[in-house]
Amino acid sequence: MNILAIYEKYAKDIAPFFPASANIDFLLMLLELKPSMRTRCVAEKDMQKSVVEWLKENGFYAWIDHENYIYISSIQSTLEKVIALDTSTEKQESKIGELFGYPRCCCKKIQGIGEEQIDAYEEAISQEIFPLFFKLIDPKNYRKGTAFISHVPCSTNCFDSLALAQQFGFFIHKNKHSLLFSGWVKELDKIYGALICH
Ligand SMILES: [Zn+2]
Repeated sequence: MNILAIYEKYAKDIAPFFPASANIDFLLMLLELKPSMRTRCVAEKDMQKSVVEWLKENGFYAWIDHENYIYISSIQSTLEKVIALDTSTEKQESKIGELFGYPRCCCKKIQGIGEEQIDAYEEAISQEIFPLFFKLIDPKNYRKGTAFISHVPCSTNCFDSLALAQQFGFFIHKNKHSLLFSGWVKELDKIYGALICH
């Protein structure tokens, strides 16, 4: 089954149990730009089981913890690694971040500022101006589900983040007629439109 077909199925069957931000995570995983993801699965226990079953039937391993966090990967050993690291008392943010597919420079940045400061850092960088094409890595739209990366970048001009965002943007552009992608298509039009009119 192709990526578009799996994503259409995902959007219909299980996306309603996740926050909007999970859409970018899941698509990046389908595009193999991200080895694993973590999001929340707000559903009754039976439904949570069905979500895990759905993922299994579609080639993913998944596990939900007691706080309703769901971990997903298409590689079982990656899933096991990320769960072990994330549930360990000695958290190693940078290693976890790499398993979630975040660029090394961005992982190092978060490691440096500390996990408890991530929200404040995200807030601060979202207020800054992302120059030219780097608007693609602005994390502002992550919670709305229309960001082009699934992490907070280390700077407003992080090239590794831009490389990820451009690969994702290319996929959206190729599939721009799917209504499921209209939020991202609008963002692309806005970003590229502004560059052309400059
Ligand atoms: Zn970076």
